[in-house]
Amino acid sequence: MNLRSQTKPVEPNKTEEVHSTPQQPEEEEEEPTSTLAVSPTKLDSSTEESGRVRQNSSDSGLPLSPLLENDPSHDLPEQLLVKGWRKLWSKRENRPYFFNKFTRESAWDQPNLEGEFDSSLQDPLGIRSLKPDDTAPGPTPSHTDVRLSRPSIDIPPPRTPGAGDKRRASTDTPDANPAKKIAFPLSSFFNFTIATNIMIDQRKPLTIPCPHPETEFLRSQLTNEARLSFGNSLQTREGIGAPPNAYNRALLAHKIRDKGRDPLLPTQCFPELCMSLFREIMNDIPVKLVKPRYTGDARKLLFRYAEAAKKMIESRNATSESRKVVKWNVEETFVWLRKKGTASYDDYLERLAHLKRQCQPHLTEVAQSSVEGICLKWYHTCCEIARKVAELSATIMKEQGITEATMPVVPPRKMNCYAIHLITPTPRLPTVEYHPDNDYINLTYKKDTVRVTSAHFQKLEQMYRMNCRDDPQLVLYLSRAWCLLKRYQTYYGTDQEGFGMQAALPSPIFECLHRLFGVTFECFASPLNCYFKQYCSAFSDTDGYFGSRGPVLDFFPLSGSLEANPPFCEELMEAMVDHFENLLSESNEPLSFIVFIPEWRDPPTEALIRLETSRYSRKQVVLPAQEHEYRHGLQHNCPQGDVNIKALHGTLVVFLQNDAGFRKWGPTPEKIKELLLAAKPKNS
Ligand code: SAH
Repeated sequence: MNLRSQTKPVEPNKTEEVHSTPQQPEEEEEEPTSTLAVSPTKLDSSTEESGRVRQNSSDSGLPLSPLLENDPSHDLPEQLLVKGWRKLWSKRENRPYFFNKFTRESAWDQPNLEGEFDSSLQDPLGIRSLKPDDTAPGPTPSHTDVRLSRPSIDIPPPRTPGAGDKRRASTDTPDANPAKKIAFPLSSFFNFTIATNIMIDQRKPLTIPCPHPETEFLRSQLTNEARLSFGNSLQTREGIGAPPNAYNRALLAHKIRDKGRDPLLPTQCFPELCMSLFREIMNDIPVKLVKPRYTGDARKLLFRYAEAAKKMIESRNATSESRKVVKWNVEETFVWLRKKGTASYDDYLERLAHLKRQCQPHLTEVAQSSVEGICLKWYHTCCEIARKVAELSATIMKEQGITEATMPVVPPRKMNCYAIHLITPTPRLPTVEYHPDNDYINLTYKKDTVRVTSAHFQKLEQMYRMNCRDDPQLVLYLSRAWCLLKRYQTYYGTDQEGFGMQAALPSPIFECLHRLFGVTFECFASPLNCYFKQYCSAFSDTDGYFGSRGPVLDFFPLSGSLEANPPFCEELMEAMVDHFENLLSESNEPLSFIVFIPEWRDPPTEALIRLETSRYSRKQVVLPAQEHEYRHGLQHNCPQGDVNIKALHGTLVVFLQNDAGFRKWGPTPEKIKELLLAAKPKNS
């Protein structure tokens, strides 16, 4: 039975936007989504029988969120739903009509996919002029309707173009807060109906200052400047560009051992020198070696390396022995190049490898102190930025008479995992403006705009409603959403080079992991790329309001089934393996981690070796290169059509499970087969 083709006229109290708005956070994971759950009796029996998670299609052919698939008010193409259109039932006229939650437009006929319709048919019920609590004939909800107690269904005032009405402040009254008017979106990229199966010991709350647009603005500005100046020092002192993503990897790697309080920047690391950054830079000295495409390029590369090595050894303070060895090898290479005329691609590369082997130890020696200086400068700049940001934060709190909360006593107690709880009161937050722009929402603070797709904006709102404890009216939502988006923007870098570290598994894989292996949790995520509502993320402060359980290395699950797709930073991947192995060794409860890492074997990464040889490893499979996809790291900010990207590398999937975990969620050949099938790109 296809429910979607059986849409019936909707009674007013059933036209409710289907969403949950627990005013309390889901601390005990009292599943707040009972209204969301798809009744088993309503499931498409054919899909149930086949044991596969149903993925109904909307009219547009796009997959529907399990949240909304049974709700006739959402019986519309996704393009229209995202624009705010809903199909409702007019009691007075006894026929369906269409209503836009964002613009308050209404129409008898279904708008076209651009969301437009014949102007003569606009506003058939005159509902644009109604205030949210007006009683009106037809579609207005009855007073018993739970919607009335939920801010998200309030109807915004009419928008008159050009009247500046797009500019709404987060500090406006709740009624004027656009966040409240957003319906929970129809989505194919997350599923918040899935409750956690992760048990933890009760955690201490967080006492650090809450995010504030002013401090976030400063952190971002100074970090961007530091990034730029890091690149400039490398260029002027070492004659190389910054290795792509090295800055981002350094942030990740140094954070592993950081004891400081800044959520983004490392400030208390010992040793101060970030070895991963040091190694990456050294690897590019004296020139970056990129695999050449043609024989001519290979020849040029060999020549360039020889020249650069010579120049470097002559211009630096080298020992006479180093100078002698490098110069001799370089001269020999020049002679070989002259004599050889033309050689094969492989000959050039072999020669280059030989030259590098001979010279590199000497070049490393002469460049060492300078590169260390650059790395230490990077670290000290991070400390300096964090100090300035903390100072500003303290000033804001002092001005508003807020003091940092003291840590309460937390009695030991085993419970379902819950979002990070920030207990220091939030100061008054300044205005953040809201500008819808087609399929995007722009949020602006002090002329600094962050942009997010409407669908992701709505996703954020949904998570905020489920998790935020101190803002039931969503008065602070825009400011906190701005801080979050700004944080991630700063994290990627101004030219967004770090977006690759945010690439996510596609929904069919998550669906499969949940269905077959009981997975309910992502160990590495952000509020923008998570599929489950339970996840760990890099930033406790900005993300905690949106459901994050904080950084994974500070998270200690006792039981449950988790997925891990770490950012591709070798140190973090290694630390992850250590962490998971410790957790597995300490628990007798069922505990399972399904880990996805790149299959880098040339040479193999330490994490890959450790995973493959782990005593908890039950099974490993490879998703071949080009035969599976990731969701773009900027999925929240790029056109829908660009979201799925083919993986250029193989992905190794490893099942780490303790005995109880293996008994409960162990990989069987049939399940693995299904997983491999789920990973296949859908259009291939
Ligand atoms: N959740 C998706 C995407 C993973 S991309 C998936 O599982 O497929 C890796 C994510 O890890 C990024 O969003 C990155 O910001 C986040 N991350 C970085 N450091 C982290 C940490 N210490 N703990 C948890 N998440 C972290």
